[in-house]
Amino acid sequence: LPQKYVRETYPSLTEADVFLGTYDYDKFFEALNCAYEGQRVNFVGCGEEPCGTGRVVSTPQHYAYLKIADGCNNRCTYCLIPKIRGKYVSYPIEELTKEASLLGEISELILVAQDVTRYGADLYGQVKLVGLLRSLTALDNILSVRLLYCYPDMIDDALIAEIRDNPKIIKYVDIPLQHSEDRILKLMNRKGSRAEYLSLINKLRNEIPEIALRSTFIAGFPTETEEECDALCGFLREAKLFNCGFFAYSREPDTAAYKLKGQLPYSVKRARVKKLYSVQREISDGILRSFVGKKIKVLCDGIDYDNNRFEGRAYFNAPDIDGKVYFNSPKATQGEFYDVIITNNDSYDLFGRTEDFQK
Ligand code: SF4
Repeated sequence: LPQKYVRETYPSLTEADVFLGTYDYDKFFEALNCAYEGQRVNFVGCGEEPCGTGRVVSTPQHYAYLKIADGCNNRCTYCLIPKIRGKYVSYPIEELTKEASLLGEISELILVAQDVTRYGADLYGQVKLVGLLRSLTALDNILSVRLLYCYPDMIDDALIAEIRDNPKIIKYVDIPLQHSEDRILKLMNRKGSRAEYLSLINKLRNEIPEIALRSTFIAGFPTETEEECDALCGFLREAKLFNCGFFAYSREPDTAAYKLKGQLPYSVKRARVKKLYSVQREISDGILRSFVGKKIKVLCDGIDYDNNRFEGRAYFNAPDIDGKVYFNSPKATQGEFYDVIITNNDSYDLFGRTEDFQK
């Protein structure tokens, strides 16, 4: 907020003592000291360190996020991020590899950026995601790597082959598609079309049969008709994605979509989100049901104290955004992998036990 609106917020938000922007990490302590001395300070834009000044791991010890770039060069018409975070800036492979090497043993390293698939284009003159993946997966302390936020038109053959052939890369890709209908995609200024998205999904499945695909979609974009929402439901049925998130379109001032005529009432947007979730629930339920009776590898994340059992994730579950696998076992340790026999499911989670668990 301060990065984009400091001129408006600094004079009016007088209860806030410190204003820092997205690239002002190195000014953090100086700003706090000023505040302790009773000053009110505006340091937005005064920092020099886009990569931050040292790593603080806030996740459980066995997994960690690695931010490989910041900013975005895309211009999706609903999104403020490029105006807030600026142009896409990749962090050098050597720095990222060093950062990852210092994290200790990590069962799962999760790569994030506004657009992971564009990694390196600004810094090296060409996309270098595969090079980065090889460098990270060569580290002994990194047991696996997961990719989030891949832009669909940037998923090329080299990346697909790397996901397929590199045993440390989790067979999971998050591809935010936002919509399926060409007219809406164009209004959103998103690249690609319904046909191209389906073809990409088929290609990924042909190359990597076990691949788990996740996506996010916006419901109720300005001018979206009920028929277009139904067509998106049809797309979901055809694409059969593992997990999806649906969000009601949020009208953000200072974006191109803000000015579009045909803004929809919140009640319509909410109803469409509900409709999309109900379609996806059936799909996810069917996929999860197919695991019942099977044994799958689960990374233990900790204890579900409310229900006296362990909780973890299979390869098709990213933390916080996807479901979980709850399991009973005489003993399990956070960060270790277990073979779990699946006994039940709902539309979001799986339930099971290890072989040595006696009721
Ligand atoms: S939605 Fe994502 S890809 Fe599009 S402009 Fe925003 S950050 Fe970039």
